Amino acid sequence: MAKIVSVGKGSSRYDVIIAKNAMNKKNLSNHLKNKNKVLIITDSGIPKKYIKELKIILDKQKVYVHTIKEGEKSKSFNTYKVITEKLAQLKFDRSDCMIALGGGVVGDITGFCAASYLRGIDFIQIPTTLLAQVDSSVGGKTAINIKQGKNLVGAFYNPTLVLISTKFLETLSDKEYKSGLGEVVKYAFIGNKRLYKFMQINAENIKLKKLNALEEIIEESVKTKAKIVTSDEKEKGIRAILNFGHTFGHAIEAHNKYKGLTHGAAVTLGMVIASKISFFEGHIKAYQLDDMINLIESLGLKVDYSKYSYDDLKGYILNDKKVSKGKLNLILVNDKGKAFKTDRYKINNLRKAFS
Ligand code: NAD
Ligand code: ZN
Repeated sequence: MAKIVSVGKGSSRYDVIIAKNAMNKKNLSNHLKNKNKVLIITDSGIPKKYIKELKIILDKQKVYVHTIKEGEKSKSFNTYKVITEKLAQLKFDRSDCMIALGGGVVGDITGFCAASYLRGIDFIQIPTTLLAQVDSSVGGKTAINIKQGKNLVGAFYNPTLVLISTKFLETLSDKEYKSGLGEVVKYAFIGNKRLYKFMQINAENIKLKKLNALEEIIEESVKTKAKIVTSDEKEKGIRAILNFGHTFGHAIEAHNKYKGLTHGAAVTLGMVIASKISFFEGHIKAYQLDDMINLIESLGLKVDYSKYSYDDLKGYILNDKKVSKGKLNLILVNDKGKAFKTDRYKINNLRKAFS
C-alpha cells in the first residue's frame, strides 16, 4: 500500500507518495492530464532504466530529456542558463511541466528553473537518492551555487507532487545511502520517537535496504519534515531545528573542502557533537547520549570526529548563518527527545566536546 503525506497549505499544498514503485502511470496521469510538454531533468549517474521507464509512462505528452553531469558542480549558473534557454527554445508555457528525476542536485536546479521560468511553471519531484527522498524533495527549497557559496541563489517554490519509489535505492551506492541515513537519524533525534524506536529495533533491515523498512523510515522522515515546513514555510522559526548537527557538519565539510565525506556523514558527526554539548549543558542524561551514539553506530555510520579539533572548525562555525548579534545559535536536544534553538550555553562546553 502506498503511503501519502500531505505537505504545505492552500494552493501550494502537495502530496508525497511513498511506495516501492510510486513512479507509475496512475500517480502521474492525474497531474499531467492537461500538460502538453514535459522536460525531464536528470543526471549522468542515474541509471538509464529509470529514465526509460518514465518515458514509457508519459505516453500522452511530448517528452524531452535533459541530462546534466552528475555532481554538485552542475548546480550552477551555467546549467541554469542552459535549461531555461532550452525551455524557451522548446516554447514551454505555463501549461507545461518539468520533472526532476535524480538526487538533490537535480531536484534543486530543476526546482529553481521551474520557480523562475515564466515566473513559475509546475514541477514534479521524483527523488532517487535517500537524501533527496527524505530531505531535499520536500519543503520547497530550490537553489543553485555561486562562487561565493552554496545555495546562495534560489527560491522557496513547492513542487506539485513528489513520488518516492523506494526501489530506486537498490542501485544507490552504500556511501550515498549512508549519507541519507544521517538525515533520517536527524528526524529521530529532533522529535520523532516512533522513528527512533523503529530504527533501534530494525537497524539490520535498514542496513540491508529491506523495502518495508525503507518505506517506514522514509514515511516517518517525510512526516516530520512536512509538519515542520508546513508550519514555517519560509524558515522564520521552528524550521531551524532541521539544522540539528548542521552547524558542525557544515564546518567539517568546509574544513575538508567538500571532498572525501558526504553531507550526511558530516552531519552525523555534527549530531554527535551537538548531542554531547546537550549533555554537557544538562539537557540530556548520560544514558540518552549513549543511546543516540549507539543508534548511529548500529546503522553502520561513523561517530568518531577525533581528527577535528575545535580550532580546526572554529572559523567555520562562527561564520555560520545561525550567528545572530555575534552569538552563535545552537540547535540542542532535551531529555524529552525534542530539539530547540538556543544562544544560552557555555562556550567552554563547545570546546569540551572536542577534548
Ligand atoms: P546528488 O544529487 O549529487 O546524488 C548523489 C549521486 O548519486 C550522484 O552521482 C547521482 O548521479 C547518483 N544517483 C542518484 N540516484 C541514484 C540511484 N537511484 N542509483 C544510483 N546512483 C544514483 O546528491 P544528494 O545527496 O541526493 O543531494 C545533494 C544536494 O541536495 C546538495 O546540492 C544539497 O545542497 C541539496 N540539498 C537540498 C535540500 C533542500 O531542501 N532543497 C536539502 C538537502 C540537500
Ligand atoms: Zn542536511
